[in-house]
Amino acid sequence: MAATQGHPHLIIGAGIAGCALAFAFEQAGKPFLVLNDEVGDAASAVAAGLFNPITGSRFVKTWMAEEVFEHLHPFYQQWQALLGKTFYHPTPIIRPFGSIAEQNTAIAKTAEPDYATYIIATDLPNELQNLVEAPLGGMVFGQGGWVDVPTLMTSMHNWLWQAGRYQLGSISPSDLSEANGLVYWKEQPYQSATFCTGYRASQEPAFDHIRFSPVRGEIIEVQYDSVAEQWPNLAVSKGIYLLGTPGTNRLRVGATYNWRQPIPETSPEGLAELCSELDQVLKTTYQVLCHQAGVRPAIADRRPVVGLLPGCNRIGILNGLGSKGTSLAPWLANHLVDFYIHNKALPMTVSPDRFRKKQNPKQTI
Ligand SMILES: Cc1cc2nc3c(=O)[nH]c(=O)nc-3n(C[C@H](O)[C@H](O)[C@H](O)COP(=O)(O)OP(=O)(O)OC[C@H]3O[C@@H](n4cnc5c(N)ncnc54)[C@H](O)[C@@H]3O)c2cc1C
Repeated sequence: MAATQGHPHLIIGAGIAGCALAFAFEQAGKPFLVLNDEVGDAASAVAAGLFNPITGSRFVKTWMAEEVFEHLHPFYQQWQALLGKTFYHPTPIIRPFGSIAEQNTAIAKTAEPDYATYIIATDLPNELQNLVEAPLGGMVFGQGGWVDVPTLMTSMHNWLWQAGRYQLGSISPSDLSEANGLVYWKEQPYQSATFCTGYRASQEPAFDHIRFSPVRGEIIEVQYDSVAEQWPNLAVSKGIYLLGTPGTNRLRVGATYNWRQPIPETSPEGLAELCSELDQVLKTTYQVLCHQAGVRPAIADRRPVVGLLPGCNRIGILNGLGSKGTSLAPWLANHLVDFYIHNKALPMTVSPDRFRKKQNPKQTI
């Protein structure tokens, strides 16, 4: 094992998954190389980057919330320090109630000790009074916020490039081989190789055993007309989310979910759906400045996939981040680095083998 320590780890794909894995290797002091094809369809390039521990009309805690959010905050803070850029924005999340039933569910949650740490206030802040429709009031949740993913990715790609750790290129599992505990690509040895290739993994035969269910998402940026009312440091979630750049009157509004046509292209239907939802939440008129689309790499059971490919010892996958790329990437990247370096077992719930009858014995918990 000692003889293999100096070889780099290979990461294929440089969206939020590949970049988080690169940063986790950097933190562990291990060498790595990132290979990215820059086709221009990365979901990370259009993601609003919202992270939110309490979601849905039933106000449920998101999957593995405690563990995931414990990793998230220090990870992004240390990542900002490395890159010398600000892209991590902890922000209260405002939930205006959509119905009396929702209001009752939320109020009932205040009595549950598990939720107390997430609830900041049980009424809405005054700053939103002239901007957001909320006849039934609402609730304010903490430990959420957003990551400016495009800024993060551009800064990380530049940093990798300058460090000589970024290459342009495309690669598939059939380009790799394993021998003597190492992975070989173009006759060069690597300690491991990990595919972080987003929704396009669903088109790759080597990943046929994984039940991908890619979802197209569309998002718009708008400028609203009331210049007197600038957006406070808050995110609003009411069916859609409204993320403002504080001190401006610009908002990112998203997102749609379309399983039927998982292609990274905008549609008139997507635009109409977002505007119709926004009309019900925003009190002022607005103009649409920008309309974008991407495909979320989602899995049929809505859990990520992290682990080795069948029959492989050092070739793995980190994928299936779905609509939670910014919250899941730090936790999963840290787990995968612990697995490659310290042989620490990965959680069974994220195993890529879970869709087959026999489970991978290297994955437990
Ligand atoms: C409209 C929209 C809004 C969203 N909003 C949010 C949000 O608010 N919060 C949130 O957490 N998530 C959000 N998401 C989801 C989020 O975008 C994804 O979870 C996340 O970006 C997935 O990251 P990834 O790195 O797995 O994939 P990607 O970002 O798609 O990156 C994959 C990378 O791999 C490269 N690649 C692919 N194949 C190869 C190959 N064979 N060789 C080399 N390189 C390859 C691609 O060029 C790309 O750079 C949103 C998604 C959409 C579409």
